[in-house]
Amino acid sequence: MIYCCQTKCCHFLFHGSGHTASCPDCGKKRIRPATRAERAAYFRQRTEALYSTRRSG
Ligand SMILES: [Zn+2]
Repeated sequence: MIYCCQTKCCHFLFHGSGHTASCPDCGKKRIRPATRAERAAYFRQRTEALYSTRRSG
């Protein structure tokens, strides 16, 4: 499940299990399930990161 941190200035998107209770970035407990658009953004970021590290030749 993808979560979104609601803390001001954080808005970190992360993957967590059902018992995830706090943001791994800021440590606050103001998290909520990510919306469909936020999940899409999360996967797009991960895909781009993969391609950028794999670039060779
Ligand atoms: Zn956070």
